Amino acid sequence: MRLRGTARINARNHLEIGGCDTVELARRFGTPLYVMDEALIRENCRAYREAFASEAGGMVLYAAKTFLTTGMARLVDEEGLGLDVVSGGELYTALAAGFPSERIYFNGNNKSPAELEEALAARIGGVVVDNPSELALLSDLAARRGQRVAVLLRIAPGVQAHTHEYIQTGQADSKFGFPLVGGVALAGVKEALSASHLDLRGYHCHIGSQILALESYRAAVRAMLEFAAEARAATGYAPEVLDLGGGLGARYTADDDPPPIEELARTMRAAVAEEAAAHGLPCPTIFVEPGRSIVGEAGTTLYTVGAIKDIPGVRRYVAVDGGMTDNPRVALYQAVYEAIVANRAADAPSEVVSVAGKCCESGDMLLWDAALPPVERGDLLAVFTTGAYNYSMASNYNRLPRPAVVLVGGGRARLLVARETYADLIRLDLIPEDLARPEEKRLPAARQAP
Ligand SMILES: *Cc1c(COP(=O)(O)O)cnc(C)c1O
Repeated sequence: MRLRGTARINARNHLEIGGCDTVELARRFGTPLYVMDEALIRENCRAYREAFASEAGGMVLYAAKTFLTTGMARLVDEEGLGLDVVSGGELYTALAAGFPSERIYFNGNNKSPAELEEALAARIGGVVVDNPSELALLSDLAARRGQRVAVLLRIAPGVQAHTHEYIQTGQADSKFGFPLVGGVALAGVKEALSASHLDLRGYHCHIGSQILALESYRAAVRAMLEFAAEARAATGYAPEVLDLGGGLGARYTADDDPPPIEELARTMRAAVAEEAAAHGLPCPTIFVEPGRSIVGEAGTTLYTVGAIKDIPGVRRYVAVDGGMTDNPRVALYQAVYEAIVANRAADAPSEVVSVAGKCCESGDMLLWDAALPPVERGDLLAVFTTGAYNYSMASNYNRLPRPAVVLVGGGRARLLVARETYADLIRLDLIPEDLARPEEKRLPAARQAP
């Protein structure tokens, strides 16, 4: 098993991350526990910044939806990256952390008028406009405020990335982006150019996630610059910025071998330069929006093993104290993970077991047929590459409190998110007046429905 980032096995045969013994982390913070490797996050941010942001005007926008907390926003700011948000809630989180608004871009296929107002009020760096309806809405809102806003148009380039169907986003039949078919994208460019309060900076595409073959990006660049040439022929406008989205894969198992960030940058730059030259277009500046490739491998989830059940001749189920509530990706996408027994980290695998969650769903599984050393109740299981789309997709199904998130580095462990309590679970619950018991009628109004 190849360990990620600063993970190693210490003299006590325990898994250690960021210089912290995971057995001690589990004792101190409880399980399930998300452990984030600070050094690996920073290293990935730097690799992106050096590969892309060194170019004049180039921008690396960390995709907030992957994993965002106020502390994470601070870390991203310290590393000098921008932020790609997709909701008012993500924008709010970034602003609450004091993230510089001019480095925030707003993506998403259905931003509400209120969210666009929030973005305009914060004077964010730009809005990635997804569709004709949003273009009209934003143009109107910006004009009413008398405020000019930078925009990129998200184009659906009609490129199928080689990845799971549910995380493909660039194909023609997608809920995302202006379609190239039927002249919809071209009409969008004309509309944006004629809108008095929109400053069209360029085009955007995002073809999918967990992409391991760079050829998909080359195809996207080809399609985007072909469109740029067509739009210039029709309008005279050439894009200054080409945002190629996120999507670079992470290593979940030995089968995943994502190319290094530097290679992604080289491929994108060469493709953009080549295609721009072929069409006689000025070479646009590249923006990227990585998420998974920055935090995916930096996250490890620790679980305590509970019930173990044998079905003779079928399989052994090992149940842990979390599951689809902290990691819904297995149920959602049949995602495959690797795990080790963290308190006997170097022990050789000797049996094949399936690791189940504790939720009331048969699909609530974390690993099918994983090779592990003999596992007992009370063991600590570490599941790797859970930094992306785990905490951010977590739920309270079965009223399980969401786990804490701890940032580890240099032997220190600091909470990014506290563990939810039972009290947190009912914090927003209200008992309507007509369901109140007589003795509750005298309780303060705060306990009653408004
Ligand atoms: C999800 C998303 C990203 C990040 O994708 P990763 O695969 O995590 O790198 C970037 N841009 C947009 C528009 C997205 O929707």
